[in-house]
Amino acid sequence: MDYGIKGRKAIVCAASQGLGKGCAFALAGEGVDLVINARGADALNATAEEIRRATGVRVTAIAADITSPEGRAAVLAACPAPDILVNNAGGPPIGDFRDWDEATWQKAVNDNMIAPIMLIKAVVDGMIARKFGRIVNITSRSVKGPLPHLGLSNGARAGLTGFVAGLARQVAKHNVAINNLLPGPFLTDRQIDGITRLAAKAGQDYATFLAARTAENPAGRFGTPEEFGKACAFLCASDAGFIVGQNLVIDGGSVNVTM
Ligand code: NAP
Repeated sequence: MDYGIKGRKAIVCAASQGLGKGCAFALAGEGVDLVINARGADALNATAEEIRRATGVRVTAIAADITSPEGRAAVLAACPAPDILVNNAGGPPIGDFRDWDEATWQKAVNDNMIAPIMLIKAVVDGMIARKFGRIVNITSRSVKGPLPHLGLSNGARAGLTGFVAGLARQVAKHNVAINNLLPGPFLTDRQIDGITRLAAKAGQDYATFLAARTAENPAGRFGTPEEFGKACAFLCASDAGFIVGQNLVIDGGSVNVTM
């Protein structure tokens, strides 16, 4: 299937590994030139080179903190007029709500709500003027079904989701489509770190805890960044302009809801 986006330009945030890298790879596979970002330059440059070699697209690597105004300015300077924006950043820490002070909440809201909104604000008018835009926000299944240990994510990402729900409907007539991808369990570094902590809290070893988490998923496995990325590329296709303001859960069916 040809997604009709060859030669388009994309910014993919937080993309040196994990889900962001999966999205970058899938877009590059469709012939999209990339600006990718993460804080650590070494891993980011290695990923950029891996994508160049595998796909032949142009990849610019910008090492910066996407949750800071300076980091966003550096990324936007490298790609001031993107056709595609994939918003992503590290997720907030797991824990108990009693442990989170005001500064922790401010950081979660900044990183997982305000930062993506600032990037959307910076690029959306250009997309409207050019009559093409695709924005995908990586959020979490915690938006659809709250996870007790992920209260910061449940709350901050719901704020982004609410804002996007309104804006997506304001810009859709200009062929600018904004949607959210809600990952469930993907065995990335973040997930491994979270499972390690939860296993320790439950007094179990990592392998036993991981096996139980795997078995409880209806698909009987964890997801891969590659399949996550392919869903992202689909939402960025030229024919995806009628998919507006949706929240696509990719979780093997673990959020137990009818709709
Ligand atoms: P990951 O494997 O830990 O990768 C995170 C990526 O983001 C890395 O490339 C990291 O590079 C970059 N990054 C982190 N903070 C950044 C910042 N402030 N500025 C720029 N880049 C930054 O994580 P992941 O599993 O792919 O998760 C991606 C997002 O999906 C997170 O928000 C996570 O909470 C959410 N999520 C993941 C899952 C899952 O199962 N994996 C489930 C639900 C939600 P540097 O550290 O070098 O910056």
